[in-house]
Amino acid sequence: MATMLDPKSLEAPPIQESLDLSLVIPIYNEYESIPRLLRVIAEVMEPLDYSYEVICVDDGSTDGSVEVLRQQAIENPHLAVLLLRRNYGQTAAMAAGFDYARGQVIITLDGDLQNDPADIPMLMNTLDEGYDLVSGWRKHRQDDQITRLLPSKIANWIIGRVTGVSIHDYGCSLKAYRAELVRDMNLYGELHRFLPALAFIEGARITEVPVNHHARQFGASKYGLGRTFRVVMDLLTVYFMKRFLTKPMYVFGLMGLLSMVGGVLLGGYLTFLKLALGQSIGDRPLLILAIVLLLAGIQLLCFGLLAELLMRTYHESQNRPIYRVRQVLRR
Ligand code: UDP
Ligand code: MG
Repeated sequence: MATMLDPKSLEAPPIQESLDLSLVIPIYNEYESIPRLLRVIAEVMEPLDYSYEVICVDDGSTDGSVEVLRQQAIENPHLAVLLLRRNYGQTAAMAAGFDYARGQVIITLDGDLQNDPADIPMLMNTLDEGYDLVSGWRKHRQDDQITRLLPSKIANWIIGRVTGVSIHDYGCSLKAYRAELVRDMNLYGELHRFLPALAFIEGARITEVPVNHHARQFGASKYGLGRTFRVVMDLLTVYFMKRFLTKPMYVFGLMGLLSMVGGVLLGGYLTFLKLALGQSIGDRPLLILAIVLLLAGIQLLCFGLLAELLMRTYHESQNRPIYRVRQVLRR
């Protein structure tokens, strides 16, 4: 029987030195792909001059991926494995990797061999041309047409319009970031795909490059059409953040004020009819409109104030991680 160890004692001490590159790979039930993926990465990185680490974040796999990763962590000095306590989802797994990464550049890729590590040098070079974020574009994407490519085409178009960052392929996991860009970004839901948009809000320089894409060889995709709904909801959040994260009062206050002014004008007009001309106004729909506008205006103003308070709390209380690391393995 294996001895029980305090997870704390297994944790490597945080290492301060910084590396050129951290690869962050979320893994959920990909045991067949892991050894080959790590081998290809080693082959690509070997001839390059970069100091690097590979961070595999196991997102609560149940298929033996953990054992494979455990073995790889013993053999591979570049590899760090984070085991999350349960399945938190790809975004949280990536966020865990970001927080642990020591590289000045972070490159994310999938653990299922669909992304090609051979693209890494090209991403690094493009970043060096003076960008903060380089997004991969799966120009020849090897996924199902109807359930994946079509929704993704539509989604990319909408996201581009709404966020103002027009790249072809938000969903591509293969992306390179300057570390400081993602370090203090808080990710929820499916927000990782909006990192280019969120980074753009922070003033980052962004570009995209075509990358290779392979059909899935092992295992199954973790997503279906249901993701489209979550992506749309996240898009609303991003739009909200872009428009008025720091000044909600400008938006709600303006709407409230307009509504109130409308209500007051209508009310004044009705009062004039009643008092000056002696008309009956009790049966007029306009009266209802005036009252609704007035009340809606007051509500919107109060809502804006509340939103201001909330936003302040949001900005000032950002130390809560969206995941819990069970254990850290590294040689
Ligand atoms: N993934 C994860 N947690 C999840 C779902 C997926 O870490 O809950 C990982 C998965 O192992 C893979 C990557 O996220 O490395 C992308 O998943 P998948 O290949 O299923 O997405 P697709 O390529 O079909 O869009
Ligand atoms: Mg995949």
